[in-house]
Amino acid sequence: MIAWSRLDDGRQFGSVNLSPPRINLAKCSKTQPKGRTWHGGSSPSFQNGRIERIGEMLRPSIFGSTSTTVVTLSKSLYKSSSKRRINTNYPSAMATISTVPIEKEAEPTLKINPPVQVAKRLEKFKTTIFTQMSMLAIKHGAINLGQGFPNFDGPEFVKEAAIRAIREGKNQYARGYGVPDLNSAVAGRFRKDTGLVVDPEKEVTVTSGCTEAIVATMLGLINPDDEVIIFAPFYDSYEAALSMAGAKIKSITLRPPDFSIPINELKAAVSKNTRAILINTPHNPTGKMFNVEELNAIASLCIENDVLVFSDEVYDKLAFEADHISIASLPGMYERTVTMNSLGKTFSLTGWKIGWAIAPPHLTWGLRQAHSFITFATSTPLQWAAAEALRTPDSYYEELKRDYIAKKAILVEGLKAVGFTVYPSSGTYFVVVDHTPFGLENDVAFCEYLIKEVGVVAIPTSVFYLNPEDGKNLVRFTFCKDEQTLKDAVDRMKEKLRRR
Ligand code: GLN
Repeated sequence: MIAWSRLDDGRQFGSVNLSPPRINLAKCSKTQPKGRTWHGGSSPSFQNGRIERIGEMLRPSIFGSTSTTVVTLSKSLYKSSSKRRINTNYPSAMATISTVPIEKEAEPTLKINPPVQVAKRLEKFKTTIFTQMSMLAIKHGAINLGQGFPNFDGPEFVKEAAIRAIREGKNQYARGYGVPDLNSAVAGRFRKDTGLVVDPEKEVTVTSGCTEAIVATMLGLINPDDEVIIFAPFYDSYEAALSMAGAKIKSITLRPPDFSIPINELKAAVSKNTRAILINTPHNPTGKMFNVEELNAIASLCIENDVLVFSDEVYDKLAFEADHISIASLPGMYERTVTMNSLGKTFSLTGWKIGWAIAPPHLTWGLRQAHSFITFATSTPLQWAAAEALRTPDSYYEELKRDYIAKKAILVEGLKAVGFTVYPSSGTYFVVVDHTPFGLENDVAFCEYLIKEVGVVAIPTSVFYLNPEDGKNLVRFTFCKDEQTLKDAVDRMKEKLRRR
């Protein structure tokens, strides 16, 4: 792990364009005011207990780092500060990189680490919170109730189907928009779930997980400067995908305890430039499920204003307290909706990355164009196995739900007993709580304390808002872990967390 540093003492120092915007390397030279030591890079991006989001780069890490690298750069590193181009002569123009502070400009050396570069469309984003937290779970030996991946395996019959497909030689490129058998199975399941009959050839596109379906939908259907409305807290990839598409994001905040949609705010947010509303039901991270009134209100707005809906429904089979409703099934909505889903959550195979988008042919065209040039096609044998999975009898889903209801009860009752305010979660394998009874200043500080002092990982939710303040009281736990793991996590919290 590299941690980048800037010298404290005003001596020759440089700065590294780590993830960050508008930092002008040419200006980061002797004339720069005194700095302080920063840590960043792949170490967790906390500052004063807060995850930084926009525009900052070299940020102190509360978790420190294993090593410190001091970087000195000469002013001539960049031809033009405004263009942030690396001078092609840079080995000779470069000073040096060393592990000790430097008194005077050192001799050029070829042992350089070029500054990290990132295009503007991604410069505000950090290592995802899920990756950060899972790394910390390992580092601190903490129980990981952060990243939503099951710590148990998917069903044998699906794994066997994949192995069979590999043995049968189904190993070359799949058809770009999906192995025909999977397109049919997706259409079949959609019909069963929603009553809608779709053409597997023209309206189903298989992607590399739902995450790719989201990106392909944005890139294929959104023009730069189109407005897209999302609901905060939102899954982190939405903002990045929209940023890659050049969209203008408008965020509507859902607030506890029920995270219901403020319909008037939503109405006020729709303008003539609104191209789409992105929804996620059941909703990550809150577990909220959009009810029929809310979906009808969204539908009316979209129809009146000719707006599309992008609907992420990856937790549709983890609907515990209410029935899942696909917005595409409401009158007049199919023709303006892209419905996205995946195999991972339902079949506990998050690493397979098999997802899909269902949309009428005129919308499928755009998203397929993007998909063709992002991944072109996704894993052939896993698609064959996915087709088999989707044809499983309903008893599989009933059993899955029963298992998750038991897990949820262990976690929710445990969190209540520990002293959290637990907000109702109707679907997904997540639950959001208010951590403030424990007296930590915000969600990041709380999660840091929880990892280091208690040995449990949760996800701070402030990263899921355009305005992080909105999430500072909330953290998310997942219950997609075996029952003993959930009990152990609760025991640790009961033993070590004290209300203040
Ligand atoms: N969907 C998972 C979650 O919400 C995270 C997946 C990821 O790490 N990108 O926890």
